Amino acid sequence: MMWVAEESGRANLDVLLAAGGLEELAVAEALAQCPALDPAWLAAAAIDIEGYDINVAALHAAFVRTIYEHAGSILTNEPVTAVVRANPHWMVQTPVSTFETPLVVNAAGAWADVVAKMAGVPKIGLRPLRRTLCQSPVHWPCQIISWPTVVDVGDAVQGARFYFKPEQGGQLLLSPCDETLVEPDDVRPDVDDVDHALQMVNRATRLGLKSVTSAWAGLRSFVTDRHPVVGERVDEPGFFWFAAIGIGIQMAPALARTGAAIARGEPLPEDVRRLGVQPEQIAPNRLDAGSE
Ligand SMILES: Cc1cc2nc3c(=O)[nH]c(=O)nc-3n(C[C@H](O)[C@H](O)[C@H](O)COP(=O)(O)OP(=O)(O)OC[C@H]3O[C@@H](n4cnc5c(N)ncnc54)[C@H](O)[C@@H]3O)c2cc1C
Repeated sequence: MMWVAEESGRANLDVLLAAGGLEELAVAEALAQCPALDPAWLAAAAIDIEGYDINVAALHAAFVRTIYEHAGSILTNEPVTAVVRANPHWMVQTPVSTFETPLVVNAAGAWADVVAKMAGVPKIGLRPLRRTLCQSPVHWPCQIISWPTVVDVGDAVQGARFYFKPEQGGQLLLSPCDETLVEPDDVRPDVDDVDHALQMVNRATRLGLKSVTSAWAGLRSFVTDRHPVVGERVDEPGFFWFAAIGIGIQMAPALARTGAAIARGEPLPEDVRRLGVQPEQIAPNRLDAGSE
């Protein structure tokens, strides 16, 4: 993955470089990696050589398999409609079933505050933010598939304004890095966000993208400090949050092990602790000032 900056974005790139894990690239090297970048726009770049592409469908399938291997089950088309405390347990209802459990794990994504409200538990102030992706055909004299994913660092006013990634078949996957606050719902892409993605990529490259072949949008949910919310509130035992996971594909394996350790009252996994993560940083109680 290659981070790119225009002149006004140098300070943002310096912050990323100071955080570690990236190597600065000379502009000529960055242009060699992605010749479509416009030399008149590009001022500085850095490469993340430890970043990998995740096959999300395969990862998801592996997680599903793991659930079945542990005698778990997945009930689709059975939305939770009520969560009622029946001390010391909870009764969880769907239109067709009722479950009794000592521990509810609220992993309802953008709907986590909706589920909390059902249970009469204070919300965490979740902010579901819409993010748009689209695909555009690229007319470029050579294969584009070897290009890295290219991410803008933004400038003093705004964070990243675009990213793009080459795909098989000469298509470019691109996003305007939008973060539009919406109600939790099955969102659709907004035409202005799609236009903005094309404009932002065209500003930084010589691609001259004109149209998209498909566009879609989804929700990335955060709380104010943008850390995940994992654990029980001290005064709400049995209601376990596993929410606000805005970059939840990359985090999923480590965060799931972290959540399982917290739920069992065990220390955090050693590799997670070594990254400096403390349970208090992700505990729901830290958000009490902002909750309703
Ligand atoms: C365009 C886009 C690009 C992204 N790119 C990246 C990326 O590059 N890297 C990365 O790591 N992440 C990325 N993400 C974010 C990632 O997809 C999310 O962080 C992740 O999906 C969150 O997982 P989750 O399980 O918490 O929530 P979800 O995946 O939203 O799962 C929550 C589930 O709960 C279900 N649910 C809700 N209410 C109920 C109810 N009442 N009863 C039963 N079930 C219910 C929902 O139907 C849903 O299936 C991206 C997201 C978008 C939209």
